[in-house]
Amino acid sequence: MNKINTPVLKIDGNFEIISWNTSAEVFLNNILNKSPKAQLSLEEIFPPGIWTKFRSDFKTNQGIFHNINTFSETETIEVFSSPSLDDGGNIKYFSLCLKAVSPKENGSSENIVRLKNILENSSLAIFLSDPSGPIVEVNRAACKLFGYSLKELKQLSREDIIQMNSDLETAIAQRNKAGEIRTELVGIKKNGETFPCEVHSVIYTNNEGEKRTSTTIVDISDRKKQELIAENSKQAFQSLFDYNPDAVYSFDLKGNFVDLNQAALNLVEGSREKAREINFLPLIAPEDRDRVMMHSSKAVSGEVQRYQTNFISLKGTKKVLDVTNFPIYVNKKITGVYGIAKDISKQVEIEQKLREEHNMFRAIIDYIPDHIFVINEKHETILTNHSFYKNYYGVENEQKSLGLTALEFFDKKEAKRVIEDNTQVMNKGIPVINREDIVQDFNGKKNYTLLTKVPFRFGDNKKGLVGISRNITEIKEKEKALEELNEALKKHADELALSNKELEQFAYIASHDLQEPLRMVTSFLTQLKKKYNNKLDDRAQQYIYFAHDGATRMRQIILDLLEYSRVGRVAHKFTAVNLEHLVSEVLLLQKKSIEEKNAKIEIGVLPELEVEEPVLRQLFSNLIGNALKYHSKERQPEIKISSLEKEKYWEFKITDNGIGIEEEFKEQIFIIFQRLHQRDEYDGTGIGLAICKKIVDNFGGKIWVDSRPGEGSSFYFTIPKQF
Ligand code: ADP
Repeated sequence: MNKINTPVLKIDGNFEIISWNTSAEVFLNNILNKSPKAQLSLEEIFPPGIWTKFRSDFKTNQGIFHNINTFSETETIEVFSSPSLDDGGNIKYFSLCLKAVSPKENGSSENIVRLKNILENSSLAIFLSDPSGPIVEVNRAACKLFGYSLKELKQLSREDIIQMNSDLETAIAQRNKAGEIRTELVGIKKNGETFPCEVHSVIYTNNEGEKRTSTTIVDISDRKKQELIAENSKQAFQSLFDYNPDAVYSFDLKGNFVDLNQAALNLVEGSREKAREINFLPLIAPEDRDRVMMHSSKAVSGEVQRYQTNFISLKGTKKVLDVTNFPIYVNKKITGVYGIAKDISKQVEIEQKLREEHNMFRAIIDYIPDHIFVINEKHETILTNHSFYKNYYGVENEQKSLGLTALEFFDKKEAKRVIEDNTQVMNKGIPVINREDIVQDFNGKKNYTLLTKVPFRFGDNKKGLVGISRNITEIKEKEKALEELNEALKKHADELALSNKELEQFAYIASHDLQEPLRMVTSFLTQLKKKYNNKLDDRAQQYIYFAHDGATRMRQIILDLLEYSRVGRVAHKFTAVNLEHLVSEVLLLQKKSIEEKNAKIEIGVLPELEVEEPVLRQLFSNLIGNALKYHSKERQPEIKISSLEKEKYWEFKITDNGIGIEEEFKEQIFIIFQRLHQRDEYDGTGIGLAICKKIVDNFGGKIWVDSRPGEGSSFYFTIPKQF
């Protein structure tokens, strides 16, 4: 065999060296700084990039291939691999012919200059390579993109910088077939980081007729990010649209619905198809249509609008909506309007109720005369009613009382007292209920006040106080006046009682003591008449008669007066008295008079009462006696005695058909010594009814008369059941 200068290595299927020629030894030493040895793996000899590529090509092409591997900035190694067969025709080993190729040998100098220019000045990462993979030339942009130095990058193969996957395989196949491919693949940086890239690869033939590829790689991470963001926001918008609990919809420039989400369809109460056939305006309550039209035309002209409106669904359901309208821009032109509608019917209803309640509350607190106020922890007034701000703070509206403290309205001493009192209530949490207090108003006027202060907590748990005070100055003054009056009355009554007692005492003593001298006068007059009757002329006898008669009358008056003064002074025993029996006994005593006058007496049903018998006897006796005495001469006297039981008292009635009493004298007859007749007409002293009145008064009852002059009278008196 002739010796050849080409470096040749003999290797087995495991890439281990079997033998080599001298040229190979020189080549390896010179180019790769390695010495060939038997069983030394090619992996130990080739740089990693070349090794990987070699192994890949070897396997792909079953040991028959030719590739060019970038070795350094200026050199590449060209490898030709071919198998050798044994006698049986099986592959025995592989021969590798190596060739170091310098760039000068790679193309014309003009081409190189041009290429270099393009490569260096391009901001795109550019790779010139063999279609089978090895990188021939790269530019700085590529180094920057992948993070390798120029030398490092040249030693790499395609799979080192582009993720090996089916996309890459498809892309290579397509490029090899069509001569060009533009696709998106995944780049791998030196630090292992991957990134999306757009790869544009073209196959061309160089001056030497060799197939080469020019590949540009662009990092599209940002674009991808933007696309992702755009996609995300598109999806987010769609989700917001679809799942928004508020009604979201769009309509065109004519107001016809374009799209509606589910909430909007629920509101409209119709299908999407149906809604898309209609205009939004008929769904607006007639009274609001003009206003809503105005808002939507403003939205169409680019202004965002927010308003409330009454809404009527396709089925007639009424709602109140809070609507926001804003324009839809497509290519900077408004093509329609988006709407977001919130159903605020409940809120509006609650607000209305709250407003009503507030008005009611305001009316109540403003119309009651009590002072009402609320203060916070800082003693600032936060609510006052009309009575409080007007009378107590002396301002004309609530606003002027708010945010201020007692210090602004009262003198310092009073304000300090009020603030201290309020602090106590707030801090201790113990209310003051209806405490009588003397407080000063803005004028410094002192008022009696009934004060209630109740501590409470605001929503944020801060302390506060509600106060209600009532000005009781007038009541207090009246109370005082009443007390004074009572005292004066009591004093007067005591004095009166004393003088009455003295008077009765006097009447008793006088009448009692007068009896004796009177008896003397009467007895001497009787003696005078008896002894000197014959010696006295008629005139003298008549004088004696008058004197005697006068003395007799005076005696009667004194006896009656004595009787009168005794009423109530002499205590009798209370016994059960059958009044029917009592009246019968009274009538028996008056039997003579009854018979003389042929009087008809009728006794009704009378009760049995626990009373002082002598007193009752006198009462009936006087009234029955009068009924007989003041009978009418024109008719037979008829007298009725009856009783009536009432809830709290008994009522007695003594009726006669006598001469009667004029209306004007009905009160007068019960006064002592008041008589309506001359003595020669009807005998009497005018004390009988006064005694009756005194008796009934002592019971706590009443006595009165009902009468028709010339027809008769009814005397009534009552006896309380408990006295
Ligand atoms: P007296 O009978 O002694 O005059 P009274 O006090 O009993 O005194 O009566 C006062 C006056 O009332 C009588 O004078 C009489 O005019 C009038 N009076 C009393 N009872 C009757 C009666 N039943 N009918 C008419 N007048 C009467």
